This record gives sequence, C-alpha cells and structure tokens, in this order.
Amino acid sequence: MKEPFRNEPVRQYRDESEREAIRKAQALVAGRFPEEIPLVIGGERIATARTKDSLDPSDTRRVVARAAQATAADVDRAMEVAWNAFRSWSRVAPEARARLLHRAAAIMRRRRLELVALEQFEAGKTVVEADADVAEAIDFLEYYARDMYRLAAGGAVTRIPDEDNELRYIPLGVGAIIPPWNFPLAIVTGMTSAAIVTGNAVLLKPASTTPAIAYRLVEIFEEAGLPPGVLNFVPGSGSEIGDHMVDHPKTRFISFTGSRDVGVRIYERAAKVQPGQIWLKRVVAEMGGKDAIVVDEGADYDEAANGIVQAAFGFQGQKCSAASRVIGVGAAYDAVLERVVERTRRLVLGPATDLAVDVGPVIDEAAYRKILDYIEVGRREGRLVAGGAKGPEGGYFIQPTIFADVAPTARIAQEEIFGPVLAFIRAKDFDEAEAIFNGTQYGLTGSLYSRSTEHLERARETFHVGNLYLNRKCTAALVGVHPFGGFNMSGTDSKTGGPDYLLLFLQAKAISERM
Ligand code: NAP
Ligand code: MG
Repeated sequence: MKEPFRNEPVRQYRDESEREAIRKAQALVAGRFPEEIPLVIGGERIATARTKDSLDPSDTRRVVARAAQATAADVDRAMEVAWNAFRSWSRVAPEARARLLHRAAAIMRRRRLELVALEQFEAGKTVVEADADVAEAIDFLEYYARDMYRLAAGGAVTRIPDEDNELRYIPLGVGAIIPPWNFPLAIVTGMTSAAIVTGNAVLLKPASTTPAIAYRLVEIFEEAGLPPGVLNFVPGSGSEIGDHMVDHPKTRFISFTGSRDVGVRIYERAAKVQPGQIWLKRVVAEMGGKDAIVVDEGADYDEAANGIVQAAFGFQGQKCSAASRVIGVGAAYDAVLERVVERTRRLVLGPATDLAVDVGPVIDEAAYRKILDYIEVGRREGRLVAGGAKGPEGGYFIQPTIFADVAPTARIAQEEIFGPVLAFIRAKDFDEAEAIFNGTQYGLTGSLYSRSTEHLERARETFHVGNLYLNRKCTAALVGVHPFGGFNMSGTDSKTGGPDYLLLFLQAKAISERM
C-alpha cells in the first residue's frame, strides 16, 4: 500500500537562500535560449523546416524557444505510431504504469528550480505562481498514480450463484491532448498523465506560446521509463493542425483545456463520425469562466479585499478561476471597492523574473491587444478607478485595472477577458447578488464572503459553479482537496484532481464466467 496522497508544499521564496537559488536557476536556463524544440514521434526527434518562436513576454526581444511545427502528415504518422504503442502499453500492469508517474514526480522535484525558472521566462509567471504550478504538476502525478491503484481493482458487482463476475476498466485507445498555456506544466501534466496511467497513448499538442515547458514533460516521462510511442509530441498551431487532430478517424478521445470558442468547435467537430471511424469520440473539455466574488453586508471587508486582489490580479488575471467580477451587496460595495483599489495601487508591475514584482506581463501580443481593447470597452461601460493603461514598453505589461458601477449585462461583466481587468457590480440585496452571480453563460468558480449563516447555506444550494468557495478566494484549487472544473459553458462538467477524473479515460468491460 502506498502512503496516502499529500499535496506538495509550495514555496514563498522569502529566504535569501531560496532567492539566491532561483536567481541561479534563471541564469542557467536563460543561458540555453533559444532552445530548439523538436517533434517527438515514437521516441524519434524530428526537426521541421518551419519553426515558431516562443518569446519572453517580459522582454519580447528574448526568444525562449524555437519550436518545430507539425504538419497534418506528421499527425498521421504520430497517430499510427501511437496505436502501435497502445497495443503493448495498454497491457502493462496498471501498478507499473502508476509507478512511472511516481518516478516522473521524483524527477520534477529534483528539477523544480529549473522548471520554475523556465516558466518565469516562457509564461511570464512570478516565482510564487510558477512554483505553485510545478507543485501542482507533481500533485497530479502523485494523485492519479494512486487513483490508478484503486481503479485497477475494478468496479463492484453483485454476486449471484454459479457465476464469477467482474467489472474491469480498460483504456480507450489513442487520444489528442490539447492544453492551454496558462498553467504550462500543471495542466499539461495532469491531462497527459491521466491518459497515460490509464493505459492510453497520446498525441500531445502543446499551446503555441509554451512549447519549451511542455517539452520538459516529454523528457521527464522518457527519463522515467515511458516506452517510445506512448507520448508523441506534435507542437503546431491549433488553427493549422487542431482540426486535423480532432477530425482524425483514428482519434478515440480528445482532452482539451482552453477557451470557450475552441472548446465548442472541438465538441461539434468531434461529434461528426468520419469515414472509417468505428466509435463515438469522447470529448473532455475544460473551458473559460466569468468568475464572481460576492461580498455581503457585514462580511470581513479586509479579508475580502485581500482575496479579491489575489484572485483578480494573480498571474495577471490569466486563470480560468480568476475573479473578474465583484458583486457588492448594499453597503459592502463601497467599503470593499475602496479597500480593493487601495491594495491594487500598491501592486508592483514588472518583469516576471524580478522577485519584487507582483504582476508580470500578459502572455502574447494577441492577448495584449485584446485586453487593451476590453479596457476601452470598460471606459464606456463603467467608471475607471484603477489602472487603465499599458505598463512599461518592451513587454506585454498592462496595469491592474478596475472599473466600478458596471451593469451586470455589460460586455466586461459577461465576456471572459482573461487579463488584469476587474468589474465591480452593485447589488441592492442578496437576492439580486445571487441572480447576478448566476447570470452568465459560465459556471466555473466563485466566492461568497459573508457572516450570515443563512446566506452561506443558500449559496451552497443556489450558486451554480463547479467550484464554490465560502469566505476565501476563488483561485488556488489544490489537487485532491478541491477537485476542479465548471458547469455550463465552462466545460463538460468534469473534475480534475478528483476521484472521478480517471474514469474519463477508461471504459468498463463486464465479464461473466459460468462456474
Ligand atoms: P485556446 O486559445 O482555446 O487554446 C487552447 C489550446 O487549443 C491550445 O493548445 C491551442 O493551440 C489549441 N487550439 C486552438 N485552436 C484549435 C482548434 N481549432 N482545434 C484544436 N485545438 C485548437 O485557450 P488558451 O488561450 O490557450 O487558454 C486560455 C483559456 O483556457 C481561457 O479561456 C481559460 O479560461 C481556459 N482555461 C480553462 C481551464 C479549466 O480548467 N476550465 C483551465 C485553464 C484555462 P494554439 O496555442 O496553437 O492556438
Ligand atoms: Mg489562444
């Protein structure tokens, strides 16, 4: 028996020794830029004529990596190789597959500082945010490994005389793993390891902005002993090869995390049965959010303000769980607004690798433009009370921005901005706050700060989100502690880091023998 799962402790990097160590790791990884990232198909490294650069969003002159770009023909070959590997991998004992995840976790622990530093450069995460992402990746490996031991025993069946019955969980086949860039190691690791530990083989297409971090995972799995062909790495633009991966008649499942629009497109396309296809594709999609924090009259306004600032501006608001709406009930509205604005003005904006910085850059040029456009929309829809402009030149910096007096139906109160922009919405009473809270197409995370037992109990029933937090912020879900995933247009209602997740990569076979 394995010892029970425990979350990997996160670090704060307050001690000088830790700060010294991360600075060294930063120098070490930066010395290798630009890294050359190949395709990996059946264990073979393949360079392509066409490459795409991933930049340091804090300093766009710095090229972090030059990634090979897979074509449709590369995807076809990877698919064939993966199905070949699947034949043997699916028959490896589940316990041995799980041990591979423990080994990968051990390697990540050893390489932690290097991984943290690389995230700072390629994704623009501050040290604490990057460290939390690496810790979460380790958590996924340790959690899913343990859950595989449980599922290896099969499902419970009822006994009848003269028959031996079992319910066995078997893998699906070959899947496409399509992650986003915002938790560049944790989400890639969670999605990939869940598929692999359950006995499937995969084609992993990393997000175009963070290929170097995703490639580390490929190397780590190789070092841990994963046979060639089980994890094939096919970096490429989603708009160029994404449809091909999804439409492929040999794709058995698609595991996607990303935006609403791409998720909907994948869901629709995957439903079409292609010539030669002999199954219905399974789609697991985790999508966006428009997450709200409600502050009730008489709540602890200081606590609420601290939670709101972290949830809204941590990693520049680029979390699916980020608070993008604050709903203030009655007198709470002004009390909290004032405190949040005051704390937001103290945030330090600058390069992610600088240990004194709270808010780094947004991920790329497209995000930068889109967020600045939303700030213009916000000027028409609300009263600007903090930020509202770009930050220093040279990187994709945007000031943490707050709009007050926003209508619940305004665009900035309905559309996912995915940046450091927060809308304050006034509610006259708790009923109205509840209606506003639920009044979007999304249903991912949300919080209520309140001292009213009645309101806390009511929120448990009526606030329709996959992850509801009471008297705490709506970000920083922990694997195993807060199984994560949303309702409605936030996805297919799955929960990562929870006891139901691995079943999404398995199918159950019932076997009965007359005795
Ligand atoms: P995105 O633009 O939807 O991209 C996600 C992935 O899909 C990327 O690998 C992208 O490749 C790929 N892709 C793009 N077009 C595709 C197509 N037609 N077919 C197949 N794949 C395609 O999302 P993002 O900007 O990376 O991430 C931010 C979004 O993710 C936000 O909406 C956020 O809320 C959501 N998110 C949700 C969760 C959750 O757990 N619910 C967690 C994290 C993030 P390229 O990079 O090459 O475009
Ligand atoms: Mg995108």
